[in-house]
Amino acid sequence: MFSKILIANRGEIACRVIKTCKRLGVKTVVVYSEADAGSLAVELADEAVFIGGSASADSYLVQDKIIAAVKQTGAQAVHPGFGFLSENAEFARRLEKEKIAFIGPNPVAIEAMGDKITSKKFAAEAGVSTVPGHMGLIEDAEEAVKISQSVGYPVMIKASAGGGGKGMRIAWNDEEAREGFRDSKAEAKGSFGDDRIFIEKFITEPRHIEIQVLGDKHGHCIHLNERECSIQRRNQKVVEEAPSPFIDAKTRAAMGKQSIALAKAVNYDSAGTVEFIVDKDKNFYFLEMNTRLQVEHPVTEMTTGIDLVEQMLLVAYGEKLAHQQNDIGIKGWAVETRIYAEDPYRNFLPSIGRLKRCQFPAEGKLGKGEVRIDTGVREGDEISMFYDPMIAKLITHGKTRSDAIDVHEMALDRLHIEGIQDNSPFLQAVIAQDRFKSGKLTTNYIPDEFPDGFSGVDPSKEQQILLAAVATFIHSTFVKRANQISDQMDTERGLRNEWVVMIDRKPYPVKIAFSEGEAEISFKGKKTPVSLSTAWKPGMGIMDGTIENAPFAVRIEDTTEGYVLRHRGVKAKVLVLSPKTAELYAKLPEKEAPDMSKLILSPMPGLVVSIAVEVGQAVKAGEAVCVVEAMKMQNIIRAEADGTVAAVNAEAGDSVAADAVLVEFE
Ligand code: ADP
Ligand code: ADP
Ligand code: MG
Repeated sequence: MFSKILIANRGEIACRVIKTCKRLGVKTVVVYSEADAGSLAVELADEAVFIGGSASADSYLVQDKIIAAVKQTGAQAVHPGFGFLSENAEFARRLEKEKIAFIGPNPVAIEAMGDKITSKKFAAEAGVSTVPGHMGLIEDAEEAVKISQSVGYPVMIKASAGGGGKGMRIAWNDEEAREGFRDSKAEAKGSFGDDRIFIEKFITEPRHIEIQVLGDKHGHCIHLNERECSIQRRNQKVVEEAPSPFIDAKTRAAMGKQSIALAKAVNYDSAGTVEFIVDKDKNFYFLEMNTRLQVEHPVTEMTTGIDLVEQMLLVAYGEKLAHQQNDIGIKGWAVETRIYAEDPYRNFLPSIGRLKRCQFPAEGKLGKGEVRIDTGVREGDEISMFYDPMIAKLITHGKTRSDAIDVHEMALDRLHIEGIQDNSPFLQAVIAQDRFKSGKLTTNYIPDEFPDGFSGVDPSKEQQILLAAVATFIHSTFVKRANQISDQMDTERGLRNEWVVMIDRKPYPVKIAFSEGEAEISFKGKKTPVSLSTAWKPGMGIMDGTIENAPFAVRIEDTTEGYVLRHRGVKAKVLVLSPKTAELYAKLPEKEAPDMSKLILSPMPGLVVSIAVEVGQAVKAGEAVCVVEAMKMQNIIRAEADGTVAAVNAEAGDSVAADAVLVEFE
């Protein structure tokens, strides 16, 4: 085995690779940029080499700097993680020339699979079913229309160099085919500097199901079953699981066989993923092959017991794969969600800044299963605008799909992040849905179920009782502590058994009596037994307990205007008032938010990509006003109301701070 490797990546995946190396006794070197100087990866690695500025183009993407770092530290191999240089054949070739091992596949395989048209041809030759369509390049819009007609609408117009969901358009008729061709071509040119376009059938009600493959340098190749990643937002995977609730043993075997055939056709010698689109009749079609470790690889690890990073290291070193296809079973079920730094209540705008609080659920046993957390950050770290907005991946495992989901819901309740917004309420809302639980997924799930975006989840009856109980308990604790601090002889002063709990400004009159954390809460005459953690103290983020004997956890944030409580998809502003104060409170007019409708603010620090309006222009509500880029994402900022532009304060290319006024209306 290698004695020292270099990891040419950052964040969560760098930490993930280090974990396996530590277990195997392999020394690790990480490279890091300015923004990552104090990162967890730098702390965990045995050595760290500074390679330049925060922008990836000045650090993680500079091959010379990475090769210099390898030489300087005497590392024998490079693990590229995902993103950055992981699918760059030129980089793999340069390492080969320098006699440094690449912990990934051979450069010919990377090249063949890096282009969608080439890989589709390889696939067809290897007997893999591909999406029906036109294999060649398309010259102009009229040809695109002709081909679309012969393929049959709807069609998908795609960039051969595409990735990350870019350069892709659906067309349902001639007009859309004409426009889609032009748009895809322009986007592909802008994003990849390569505007080759092809057309294939658009598969309706599709599922995204992919096969994990593993090959060595001795011609041996196996597959490690499938992962389903149909829950996507803007072509970005959000929830992944293994196995798929849709695939039977026969289909799995057929998909696995074809994936291995494709891998063998390019002498695939590492871990890789063959992506398929699967229609409602279980017909499956090859989409593309990713020649690297995938973000969602942990669900495969948890259901096969195989450490994919270890296997990548072994085969890169030249070892034969120890596993045979027949050894690979499926142990239980695993679900992964990607916890992103974004505000689900504000159309998923990136939310960056310092992690004032960052507590993850404990790894290991929880409920009827177990929890795994893959992350690259800890409390106090900064989520910056320079990189991917992922905070962590939560993976849970159980005997059955329903156990894995139950544990997942419990684990998300035990996630506590303050300082920035995170998408966990949205993740909770998705996995709590009956449709999700029944496994009826398609890649259109999110637009189908959240057509107007995400505006939160209203608490159910039982959740109202739970929130009221937790709020009164923590409020009582605060009152007692305040009494002690102010030296009140009577520490019970201000405590009572009857409260009005305001949940999102709605009053809930409750009666509650505590003794040692045991309480009985009466709400509208119904008595519910609640047991709350007596270990809870002000400042602790999570309150544990049971309600009617079922365990729960509620996330608590103490703000200047009461408590913010989160549980499942619910995020509620809660005030605990005496009945008299509640009466007065009801008479107070609701505080009006300052009128911001005349200003367009930058929602985060970033780069202005374009401004679509000019002074004097009339703009309708919902119209795009400008585009700001941060964390690899272009965010379209829209007018909230009709108006006429009075001033434009920024231009394309400007770096702007959060809340900078970009455009003013009259
Ligand atoms: P796909 O959606 O094609 O299956 P993944 O979901 O595995 O791919 O990852 C999507 C892409 O996002 C990766 O190919 C990579 O370019 C990028 N990416 C994700 N996380 C990171 C990261 N921490 N650093 C750099 N790039 C990343
Ligand atoms: P990328 O390289 O951007 O990941 P893919 O070819 O893997 O591109 O496609 C990304 C996603 O787009 C898929 O997961 C699927 O949801 C959708 N998609 C791609 N091709 C088709 C198709 N022919 N029919 C239906 N959906 C498709
Ligand atoms: Mg893909």
